Amino acid sequence: RRRERLAGIHGLGRTSDGHPVALLVNLGAAHELAGAAAADAEGVGLFRTEFLYLDRAEAPGQDEQAAAYRAVFDAFAGRRVVVRTLDAGADKPLPFATAADEENPALGIRGLRTAARDPQLLETQLAAIAEAAAGSTADVWVMAPMVSLPREAAEFAQRVRAHGLRQAGVMIEVPAAALRADRLAEVCDFFSLGTNDLAQYTFAADRTLGALAELLDPWQPALLELIATACHSAADRGRPIGVCGEAASDPALALVLVGLGVTSLSAAPGALPEVRAALRAHTLAECWELAELALFADDAAGAASAVRARIGER
Ligand code: PEP
Ligand code: MG
Repeated sequence: RRRERLAGIHGLGRTSDGHPVALLVNLGAAHELAGAAAADAEGVGLFRTEFLYLDRAEAPGQDEQAAAYRAVFDAFAGRRVVVRTLDAGADKPLPFATAADEENPALGIRGLRTAARDPQLLETQLAAIAEAAAGSTADVWVMAPMVSLPREAAEFAQRVRAHGLRQAGVMIEVPAAALRADRLAEVCDFFSLGTNDLAQYTFAADRTLGALAELLDPWQPALLELIATACHSAADRGRPIGVCGEAASDPALALVLVGLGVTSLSAAPGALPEVRAALRAHTLAECWELAELALFADDAAGAASAVRARIGER
């Protein structure tokens, strides 16, 4: 039944009244590349580059990185690839990039913060991305993880553009970044909401602790409110704003995110058909209504059940 229902729904993400929502895949390991490239998607919304750096004593050099990026850009020729620069630290420790003696690594020197400590690490990566992009038809966008200040976004964008790369963005995964997205939008080209970390930092709840699942639920209205704030700021400046965290893979929540103003959704390839089908079955105005229902709920369970009940009625 499920397969029958989804068969025949292909192509660009859009609502039933034609509002476009780019559907993209997350990519985080070399063995996922073939499956990701074969997916019916407009490109890669989150290329996690950490896998290149894992299990090593030192960072890979520019040539080796460029070859790995070229493989991805070739597989996505003509499509968008959003490359995220190294997100070391916290749940992704690396001996050469992160300190072993931090008491609270999730609140420590991680993501873009490691670049302040070791500028060459980011420099080599940007040079490798630029080298691979130069010989490719992929539409290469580059973004930084764990940005919290407009200054960080401005400096990152400047470094990206110095390498001839045109689209420089930041992840919004710290509440400060969502709250001040208006300022961030002045200095970079696009946003990507990392709902996994944004939930963790909004609720002060370790994302790896199963016991805190209720706090980390992406239906939490406080999380949705931060997303709405960031979306308003992005729209004011005409900046694309995607979701690349796990929230994008729930079809009902995807409708809410689109209603809040999200312009693209990036998820595992297997999650996209259901998300695409949900979009095609609802108008943008219906997504606005669903977003309102979720925002005005008292808690995550209430938001999810109100939205699911409304969708079921239709
Ligand atoms: C996120 O934080 O939501 C995200 C997409 O990045 P990661 O899961 O790699 O931290
Ligand atoms: Mg993250």
